[in-house]
Amino acid sequence: MKPEQFPPDIQPHLIPWPSGRLIYRCLSCAAEFDIQKLLYTCPKCGQVLLLHDTHFEQLKEIPAAQWRRIFDYRRMLTLPALKGIYRYHEFIGPNIPLDAVVYLGEGHTPVVEANRGLQRDVGLRFYYKNDGQNPSASFKDRGMASALSYINHLIKSGKVSNVLAVCASTGDTSAAAALYASYLRPDIQSAVLLPHKKVTPQQLSQPLGSGAKVYEIPGVFDDCMKVVEALSEQYEVALLNSKNAWRVLGQESYSYEIAQEFEYDVADKVVVVPIGNAGNITAVMSGFLKFHQIGLITALPKIIGVQSSHADPVYQYYRETDRDRRKFVPQNVRASVAQAAMIGNPVSMPRVIQLVEQYNARAGCQRVHFVQVAEQEIMDWQLQANRNGHIACTHGGECLAGLKRAVEMGLADKTETAIIDSTAHALKFAGFQDLYFSDRFPAEFEVAPQPALMNAPIYIHPSDLAQVPAPGRPLSGEAFDSFVQAVSRDIALDLKLVKKKE
Ligand SMILES: *Cc1c(COP(=O)(O)O)cnc(C)c1O
Ligand SMILES: [Zn+2]
Repeated sequence: MKPEQFPPDIQPHLIPWPSGRLIYRCLSCAAEFDIQKLLYTCPKCGQVLLLHDTHFEQLKEIPAAQWRRIFDYRRMLTLPALKGIYRYHEFIGPNIPLDAVVYLGEGHTPVVEANRGLQRDVGLRFYYKNDGQNPSASFKDRGMASALSYINHLIKSGKVSNVLAVCASTGDTSAAAALYASYLRPDIQSAVLLPHKKVTPQQLSQPLGSGAKVYEIPGVFDDCMKVVEALSEQYEVALLNSKNAWRVLGQESYSYEIAQEFEYDVADKVVVVPIGNAGNITAVMSGFLKFHQIGLITALPKIIGVQSSHADPVYQYYRETDRDRRKFVPQNVRASVAQAAMIGNPVSMPRVIQLVEQYNARAGCQRVHFVQVAEQEIMDWQLQANRNGHIACTHGGECLAGLKRAVEMGLADKTETAIIDSTAHALKFAGFQDLYFSDRFPAEFEVAPQPALMNAPIYIHPSDLAQVPAPGRPLSGEAFDSFVQAVSRDIALDLKLVKKKE
């Protein structure tokens, strides 16, 4: 719809112009810093930062009901800059001019209700939100769209040039970073660091295909992260890990979309997310808090963070119910099918600690919970979901396993509706499905296939056939007829098909 066709009271707000005043604020010493420079940690105390809009309260000058209408009407716009996460421009990056916005098709991912059988098995109504349907097939695109739009803005305004963007990755961050950086060539080059043999072939193919420099190093993600931190401290590079607060800002769109999808009625909603480096759960909490602060939502949804028992430092931290006695202990992670969440020392832990406090305080009761699941449950629930029409990755399986656990523990019940995150596309992690189906999981994963969930192709090659077709060597005439007849006979036999009556 063309802007002039929208209702007159919406028109002035339809296309946002740069507003707000963003600053970096240190989580620890509360020092504030200008955003004209790329900053990842506090120059005073070294702690992580979050972005704050010092003019945020001014958003209240527009009534909440009007904000809802503005976002609903923006759905009908055809302007690329407002088709993705910047539909929520005033909440995501109010200072970003629309001509600097990089839109590659991210955000507004499908929310798909589970069928009745699966809902019965889990014990409540739930939906998958398919963040694997983002351009690089994971939710990381939300944060990259934000981080790269900001860098693009700095480039366009002459503040930086020839940017080298770097990140450490468990696979999906590098795929997203390389994709968005490649769109902005030649102004931006990207280099990604991956733990050798700890990302899937699909994930490795992505930054290679986008033309990034790809470095594989020994160790796990936490080791890559340390190297990238050293690089960003000593050299002129732009860090694209979620330590970069712009990433968190973009990922808040996930919460805004859920709010809008459910007509801003989230009081009885349970949002389930997997936790790795904890950037995602940070963004999800922050997003709902912001909408609540301005009144777009009048209640905060419950949030459940899920971790595998092979990488669960956040879960372990919150197991201690006395908050004064909680102590964060980094972990040595073990092999996990939720490979993108195989992180023992999450960079965003200080953000999580602060936001959980704020979230529960604002809700007036405990609204954030953490559960732990076994590797076996992750695989079983992923396969179970996908046998019921979903395209969940292993982390989507982790969320479903986590939801089931939450129901068993009484943390969620059938008066509520859950929205669970399939953070990537199933195809990225097809290798784990192969290991399951062929019963070849290395022992360290602690996964044994359930026969009922296994599957394998059946090769049909009738022994009574003299000739079969091959590429470039088609059959014809009688040979072709015999081939078609024999193959259909064997398939019918295997499927126990009943012959049609004459
Ligand atoms: C990055 C990632 C996660 C973990 O998210 P964090 O922000 O690191 O907690 C989970 N699933 C997938 C598919 C990911 O790529
Ligand atoms: Zn500080």
